[in-house]
Amino acid sequence: MSATPATLSVNGRTYRWPAGPVVVVCVDGCEPEYINQAIASGSAPFLASLRSRGICLTADCVVPSFTNPNNLSIVTGAPPSVHGICGNYFWDRDAGAEVMMNDPKYLRAGTILAAFAAAGARVAVVTAKDKLRALLGHRMAGICFSSEKAAEATLAGNGIDGVVDLVGMPVPSVYSAELSEFVFAAGVRLLERERLDVMYLSTTDYVQHKAAPGVGAANDFYAMMDRYLARLDALGAVLALTADHGMNAKTRADGSPNVIYLQDLLDDWLGAGRARVILPITDPYVVHHGALGSFATIYLEAAAGEAVRARLAALDGIELVLPNAEACARFELPPDRMGDLVVVSGRHVVLGTGAARHDLSGLDAPLRSHGGVSEQRVPLLFNRRTAGIPGRTRLRNFDVLEVALNHLESDAGHRSATGVAGR
Ligand SMILES: [Zn+2]
Repeated sequence: MSATPATLSVNGRTYRWPAGPVVVVCVDGCEPEYINQAIASGSAPFLASLRSRGICLTADCVVPSFTNPNNLSIVTGAPPSVHGICGNYFWDRDAGAEVMMNDPKYLRAGTILAAFAAAGARVAVVTAKDKLRALLGHRMAGICFSSEKAAEATLAGNGIDGVVDLVGMPVPSVYSAELSEFVFAAGVRLLERERLDVMYLSTTDYVQHKAAPGVGAANDFYAMMDRYLARLDALGAVLALTADHGMNAKTRADGSPNVIYLQDLLDDWLGAGRARVILPITDPYVVHHGALGSFATIYLEAAAGEAVRARLAALDGIELVLPNAEACARFELPPDRMGDLVVVSGRHVVLGTGAARHDLSGLDAPLRSHGGVSEQRVPLLFNRRTAGIPGRTRLRNFDVLEVALNHLESDAGHRSATGVAGR
C-alpha cells in the first residue's frame, strides 16, 4: 500500500492527515442552549467534562441557517458560494422550474471526505435522513448510509451491508428521536469494528423542532447523545461537535405560528403572479415545521425591486431585506441560485408563501424553526485542547474539520494537560 500524504488541500484549505480516528458530529438544530441546559440538569456529564479536558467554543453557521447548506459547508470546508448548495429547494432559472437541490449535480465543489478517501483514508458517513446521503457521499469511496434507509444499504451502493444487524436497533420512524440515536449507535459500532480515519455523523432536528432547551424531551435527547459521545471518546477518537443551525420558538403570545405570508402580500401589492416567493426550507419532510422558516428569496421584475424591498423592510418582524448582490456577498451565497431579494425574518417570526399553501395540521407542538440570522450561533466543541487557532477572528461551523485535524493537541498532550498519566 502506498504511503499516505502528510497533508491534503481541498477547496483552498490544507488539512493534516489524521493520526487516529477523527469523528465529526453535526447535531441538527443544536442551539447552544440545549447543551448548556442538559449540562445544568446533570444529563450530559461527558459534554460537561469537555469544559476542562477539551475546548468549548461557539461559531457562526451559514445563513440561510438550514440543514443542507450547512452540512455541505462542513464537509467541504467552504461556504455555499463555493459548493453551490444554498437550500433544500430553489428556482432553477435554466429549467424554469422550482426544484429540489438535493441532487449531487448541484454540488460545485468536492468534499474533504471524498478527498481523504481518494488518498487512501478509511471514511464513513452516517446521516439520519436519506435526503443528505447522496450529497455528503458524493464521489466518496467508503461507507455512507442513512438511518432512514439503513435496511436497504448494500456493499455496492453504500460500502456496507447488514447495517441493521450491526447496529442492533430496528430502523426508526423518520419522525423520531431514535432516527438520530441510530446514527450514534452505528458510529460506535463502526468504530468498534474497524479502524476509521474520518467519520461524519449527522443527526436530525426532530426533537429540537418540538422541545425547547431544558425541556424533558430535549434533556433526554442530549443524555442519549452524551452516552454515545463518551463511548466514541473511550474508543480513542478525536471528537468534534458542531451544528448545522440553531432553533427558536416562532410563535405569538397565544402559541400560534407567527407567520408573514410573503406571496399573499406581494400578490396584493403587485397583482397575482407578478412575484415568486421561494422558501428554501421546503423539503419532503415538512410535518414538524410546515415549510416555515426565517429565510425566503423573491423573484420579481427589476422595476419593482426597490419599492418592494422598502415596503417589506418596514414590516414588523422583518429583520433584513437585501438585493441579490448584497445578500450573496454578505452571506457567501451563489448569486445565480438566489432570487432578486433575500428576506430574513426576526427571532420569533417565520416566512410563508400563501396562507393556503402551508399545511399546519401536522404541527402538534408550538412552532419552532430556523433559517435566519437569529439561528446562526452554534456550538463548536472538541475533546482535545488547542494551542490556539491562528488567524481567525470569527469561527465558522465549517472550520470544524480544519480545527480537528490541524489545531488540536495530540492525545499525549491532552492526557498530560489533564493530569492523567501516560498509557
Ligand atoms: Zn437542520
